[in-house]
Amino acid sequence: MGIFEYAPAPESRALANLKEQYKPFINGEFVDGSGEPLKTVNPATEEILAEVGTASESDVDIAVKAARKAYTSVWSKMPGAERAKYLFRIARLIQERSRELAVLETLDNGKPIKESRDSDVPTAAAHFFYHAGWADKLGYAGYGPDPKPLGVAGQVIPWNFPLLMLAWKIAPALATGNTVVLKPAETTPLTALVFAEICQQAELPPGVVNILPGAGDIGASIVEHPDVDKIAFTGSTEVGKLIQRTVAGTRKKLTLELGGKAANVVFDDAPLDQAVEGIVNGIFFNQGHVCCAGSRLLVQESVAEEVLEKLRYRVSTLRLGDPLDKNTDLGAINSAEQLAKIRGLVESGDAEGAQRWTSPCPVPDRGFFFAPTVFSEVHQSMRIAREEIFGPVLSVLTFRTPEEAVAKANNTPYGLSAGIWTEKGSRILWMANQLRAGVVWANTFNRFDPAAPFGGYQESGFGREGGRTGLEAYLNV
Ligand code: NAP
Ligand code: MG
Repeated sequence: MGIFEYAPAPESRALANLKEQYKPFINGEFVDGSGEPLKTVNPATEEILAEVGTASESDVDIAVKAARKAYTSVWSKMPGAERAKYLFRIARLIQERSRELAVLETLDNGKPIKESRDSDVPTAAAHFFYHAGWADKLGYAGYGPDPKPLGVAGQVIPWNFPLLMLAWKIAPALATGNTVVLKPAETTPLTALVFAEICQQAELPPGVVNILPGAGDIGASIVEHPDVDKIAFTGSTEVGKLIQRTVAGTRKKLTLELGGKAANVVFDDAPLDQAVEGIVNGIFFNQGHVCCAGSRLLVQESVAEEVLEKLRYRVSTLRLGDPLDKNTDLGAINSAEQLAKIRGLVESGDAEGAQRWTSPCPVPDRGFFFAPTVFSEVHQSMRIAREEIFGPVLSVLTFRTPEEAVAKANNTPYGLSAGIWTEKGSRILWMANQLRAGVVWANTFNRFDPAAPFGGYQESGFGREGGRTGLEAYLNV
């Protein structure tokens, strides 16, 4: 079957209501931060999108004081049913402004519009709806009759799902009665600042949410601030370890959502076409910039060749290019830095003797792009089998028995997610028990729901976000 030619179908960039300047949001107002302004770039074109004011260490202090005041005077005292009304309002406003948020996210991050439109933004709204439902029912969550909030939460998030990671952090914090100081990633601050406008529209009391754009040092200042009660971090294992050291010996409660190197395990009895769709979704969703990406494919030896052949054909039909085009499957890599990291790891795969196959798709001549790549004949000792690439690169290994699959899947310092593809229910249950991963998907991959707790083992971090369990991270229990 040939591949259809598609006419261009770009979403209108005007929908993003892009402004020339954005500012930090402290105590309910947009303020001139005293840090050096940063310029945020569209990674698909390398053009500068906007100038963003940043916070300095003194702004962190002002924001924490505002959050403390809002906590003691208003937010922690408010009945849960009242807090819920604000969360519902925020959820509805995200829906109302969903096209604007989706286009802005795509411009700032480089992800395809079909993902920001159909996944990031609706799931962000769903997190606020879900947690609004908990705000007045915390006494029934299994943490005692009247569980108390912690106080001021300092939150630091990465660039791969900017608005969604914000929602994962802010929704449970507010539902449980905490106030927030959040730092978005340096390369993707824009949707967080539109979210700040949404907080104003929802008439959220000043100081309950504060958004401080800036670089890693501002994240560190939030973590170090003595009047912060809880730290929630999503990002690299390296920075996670630093943060854990910083808060050691303090009263601060900590949750870390770090990297991953998930095994996606395909048995010979799996429905292979369906498995191929799951493999593709597992590693090429969001250009592979996904902490729980199925970046190690473990395929049973007897079907390995067939799976690889189907996979290469399917991957060759993926469309790489303009993230604003509604037909685009893979958008841009978020930054030149990340692209260099991916290239470096791919070169190590070549040097260590893995077989590289790259999709023959056309690659745009400007912007940061990387064609989908599949490595076969990968051995467990290779860097591409051990290190997180965080890009559209799949490493394929084989196995013969279920025991070997488990041993290989667990042979990683990480433990965030895993996938199992088989017809056998008993094998799914057996495997799920053996795999040391926080989330195990069976005959599917990358399913997210606010009711399902998400989080890792080992170097993937600790603590859970989402679901009833996720509330615990923000309660004094
Ligand atoms: P990163 O360097 O750890 O950055 C994450 C956030 O931390 C950014 O906002 C960053 O600011 C900030 N930061 C940097 N240094 C800091 C410090 N010393 N103290 C406090 N904050 C600091 O990670 P990244 O490269 O942006 O993101 C990719 C990584 O995140 C991957 O390893 C991925 O697996 C992981 N991740 C995990 C999950 C999960 O749920 N487990 C989800 C998404 C991503 P700047 O932006 O200014 O650097
Ligand atoms: Mg950007």
